Amino acid sequence: WSIDTIAVVTGANRGIGFEIVHQLALHGLTVVLTSRETAVGEEAAKVLQEGGLNVVFHQLDIVDPSSIETFTEWIKENYGGIDILVNNAGVNFNAGSDNGVEFSEQAINTNYFGTKNMIKAVIPLMRPSLSGARIVNVSSRLGRLNGRRNKIGNVELRQQLEDDEALSEELIDQTVNKFLEQVKDGSWTEGGWPQVFTDYSLSKLAVNTYTRLMGRILSERPEGQKIFINCYCPGWVKTAMTGWAGHVSPEDGADTAVWLALLPGQSITGKFFSERREIHF
Ligand code: NDP
Repeated sequence: WSIDTIAVVTGANRGIGFEIVHQLALHGLTVVLTSRETAVGEEAAKVLQEGGLNVVFHQLDIVDPSSIETFTEWIKENYGGIDILVNNAGVNFNAGSDNGVEFSEQAINTNYFGTKNMIKAVIPLMRPSLSGARIVNVSSRLGRLNGRRNKIGNVELRQQLEDDEALSEELIDQTVNKFLEQVKDGSWTEGGWPQVFTDYSLSKLAVNTYTRLMGRILSERPEGQKIFINCYCPGWVKTAMTGWAGHVSPEDGADTAVWLALLPGQSITGKFFSERREIHF
């Protein structure tokens, strides 16, 4: 890895994202720290720049198509392309013990559709290399298909989502959209959705499932143009999202993302990790 390796991290003004930028930059890469708010993003980048690291700031809101377009144009003009994308930006309105669905749309739009927006926008910018370009999605064990308390109750739907042959982007989109419709008409409690942090868990289930799907699709690219995509759970991390109640430091929460982004001679793709080990979806 060198200063010519370009990594982009979303939602990196604080928390796990900020630490991912920090650790990638310590490896000597050029890291683009992005944030939806310019002032806080610039401030965060300054902290790392003052430490002598190669960190550059650019505004990026993953649910705003014009922000994504401005960002990708800027990347093209300044770097020609990127090598690593870490989709870290996310929201959770269920912190504490609240399972409310008031902000479901925002949670699903940011965590799932925003992540997907970024993957689609960045794939054409990913530079060919022998070691392969990398996408890492910061996800959660709460999004497991077979979580003990968090299973999707509809067995047929769960089996379709588990079945690599039946899996499609349309199926994932239909699943989250059906939930959002049920939130609107008030029938979601009967829908058999994950019982804990329902909207957040479903958004991360969608991220995990999309990672599996894209792992398969991207593995069909020819040698030299491979893109490896994986997701991981950082554990319960002391950040704003958990009200600093987690038991993992942001440094440790960032570790698996950096490990996946930099794995040498990697051929692992479409998998789910925690603490540098593969876990079941
Ligand atoms: P934080 O709330 O500290 O950080 C979330 C970051 O995402 C913030 O920088 C936030 O920006 C940004 N963000 C939110 N929406 C957007 C958007 N539309 N566009 C760009 N950036 C956005 O939480 P964490 O660091 O804990 O979370 C990072 C990731 O880790 C998330 O995906 C989260 O779901 C995941 N995760 C966290 C766990 C934990 O225990 N903390 C456990 C499992 C997964 P802003 O400051 O403007 O709000």
